[in-house]
Amino acid sequence: MPPDVVIVGAGPVGATLALGLADSEVSVTVLDARGAGEPARGERSLALSHGARLILERRGVWGVLAEQAGAVTPITAIDISQAGGFGMTRLAAADHDLPALGYVVSYRALQGALDAALARSRIKVRHGVTVARVGGTPAYASVEVAGAGADAITARLAAVADGTGAAVAGVARRRHDYGQVALIARIWREEPHAGLAYERFTPDGPVALLPEGDHYGLVWTATPGRAEELLALDDAAFLAALARHFGNRTQGFTRVADRRTFPLVLEFAPTAVGTRCVVLGNAAQALHPVAGQGFNLGLRDAAELAQIVLDTPRDSIGDAAMLARYAGRRRSDRWGGIAFTHGLVNVFGNDLPFLSWPRGLALTALDALPWARRAFTQAVIFGLR
Ligand SMILES: Cc1cc2nc3c(=O)[nH]c(=O)nc-3n(C[C@H](O)[C@H](O)[C@H](O)COP(=O)(O)OP(=O)(O)OC[C@H]3O[C@@H](n4cnc5c(N)ncnc54)[C@H](O)[C@@H]3O)c2cc1C
Repeated sequence: MPPDVVIVGAGPVGATLALGLADSEVSVTVLDARGAGEPARGERSLALSHGARLILERRGVWGVLAEQAGAVTPITAIDISQAGGFGMTRLAAADHDLPALGYVVSYRALQGALDAALARSRIKVRHGVTVARVGGTPAYASVEVAGAGADAITARLAAVADGTGAAVAGVARRRHDYGQVALIARIWREEPHAGLAYERFTPDGPVALLPEGDHYGLVWTATPGRAEELLALDDAAFLAALARHFGNRTQGFTRVADRRTFPLVLEFAPTAVGTRCVVLGNAAQALHPVAGQGFNLGLRDAAELAQIVLDTPRDSIGDAAMLARYAGRRRSDRWGGIAFTHGLVNVFGNDLPFLSWPRGLALTALDALPWARRAFTQAVIFGLR
């Protein structure tokens, strides 16, 4: 019997969708290229909003995660400044009667908690299965598995959360290369971080320090050439360069580990739905990390899709009307997140001197105007809905 929904990718977004359907009559098969029990590739620090926490709480994952030492670090305040210009502000959770503005979560720990929750559920997960192509007709979705002799899997709906959307036929994607890379690393400082994050806008692009466990996660935007130079420095010279980059905002760096880079691009599907198919998470939008919006948008994709599938009569799951409903409900949040992030990169992440004043004014306004702080903090915590 074909399943109602095939989910391609059991990463954080695909797994969250699957768990949202676990207690229903909807039959679900999840396919993931990772072997069973294999940890997620590439550790990274994910910035989660308070809204994302609520989604994971509802799936019974947050509590398990929060019990693991160092897996979740609350961000209690964010210090925002710009290099070479006036204007700074500090957003604090206490000003909004919240326990935290957001959380830094280990990707591997989150994936482990989601894998365990799926294993406890009735959802069928097939590990070690790589999907080669997702297509379909108005009647059914067709998911072709890589490997000789493997039969295509049919379903009412294919939900693709594979991180790239690479195998999907019929959903166009746009790409903008920022011509920059993110250098990420773990950084230790003399003083404990006490939950304080730093975001600094510099002529080379934004640089952020996110509190994580006993250290900071660094995300330093630079041109590929500058990043090569920074990678080649010995630890002491790298920490000195980092201190210069942060100016007077924070100092006292003592140790660095695990330096590496990845390219910064904006990739998104203007329409996240096709025939009997939907893309979500990074497969729908992969954003610059400057505003920490990308992963949170992905979790909201998963939560909304699960709700729409649950609200749709079984015969109509994946039909054009259901997919139009999903696309309509996600439109403003997705476009808002994409535009907010892209705008922030363009206004704050370049070296045009005439933008230094507007940047300073924006930061001063954030510092001085309660309504502007509320709106900005709201965007950081919950996204732009
Ligand atoms: C190098 C890198 C660094 C990042 N750093 C940060 C950061 O510092 N902070 C931050 O907030 N965000 C960061 N991000 C973004 C963040 O990782 C994503 O927002 C998040 O992982 C999206 O989750 P997802 O489930 O959509 O996709 P993914 O996490 O990519 O999961 C995709 C899943 O699909 C499976 N899969 C892939 N292809 C196939 C296939 N053909 N068939 C079957 N299964 C398949 C994979 O095994 C995986 O389990 C980074 C992204 C990258 C690529």
